[in-house]
Amino acid sequence: MTTTAAGHTPAPEIVAAFEAAKGFMPLDEGLALYAAAAEATALGLPLLEVGTYCGRSTILLADAARQAGVSALTVDHHRGSEEQQPGWDYHDPETVDPVVGRMDTLPTFRRTLHAAGLEDHVVALVGRSPQVAAVWGGPLGLVFVDGGHTDEHATADYEGWSPHLAEGGLLLIHDVFPVKLDEWTGQAPYRVYLRALESGAFTGVSATGSLRVLRRTGPGI
Ligand code: SAH
Ligand code: MG
Repeated sequence: MTTTAAGHTPAPEIVAAFEAAKGFMPLDEGLALYAAAAEATALGLPLLEVGTYCGRSTILLADAARQAGVSALTVDHHRGSEEQQPGWDYHDPETVDPVVGRMDTLPTFRRTLHAAGLEDHVVALVGRSPQVAAVWGGPLGLVFVDGGHTDEHATADYEGWSPHLAEGGLLLIHDVFPVKLDEWTGQAPYRVYLRALESGAFTGVSATGSLRVLRRTGPGI
């Protein structure tokens, strides 16, 4: 399977902003995300991300959206996933709000977008993903699932958001590991990926690292 489509490559300053931002996505996956986002904007619909964190991947969706004159939406409660809490492998002490005593990645996210000059192209939705999905009313050109890694969260993200994906739109799933690596690179995203393929509503497009791209080609999610 191929990775990036020709002509859908971010400018050097966008790549630099991506690489400077806190987050969990390597560059090869970022380039594949960007290419998919750029392609999906042809539908003229918003692009949606679940799992903003500090805005690293959001930069790429936002730049692709900006080029096409659509919006990038990004959903997060900004309190971190299980594996990002104090004491866990993916914890970053800088993300803790000392007043509240809990993680809050929203301020860092806002600084990231500001530094990249992309604030005007992003709508940040702060809340729990299934709750936002339940009140969301419009069609989407792309859904990028990069939120919680438990079965509960990954399944709720898929069930909540994929029905909003327009036919021809792209479903992207991050952290798809067909072989279990450790407790937190668990396999819930992989199970969601298999479920999407088995539904008959999606066709596989590409795989880059742990990023999978599928196209919605039919009803029946
Ligand atoms: N896309 C980011 C990484 C996201 S990390 C990057 O490329 O760097 C996963 C994020 O999902 C965390 O910030 C966490 O707060 C968020 N998250 C986990 N479960 C969630 C839920 N149920 N609703 C909203 N956000 C959630
Ligand atoms: Mg991820």
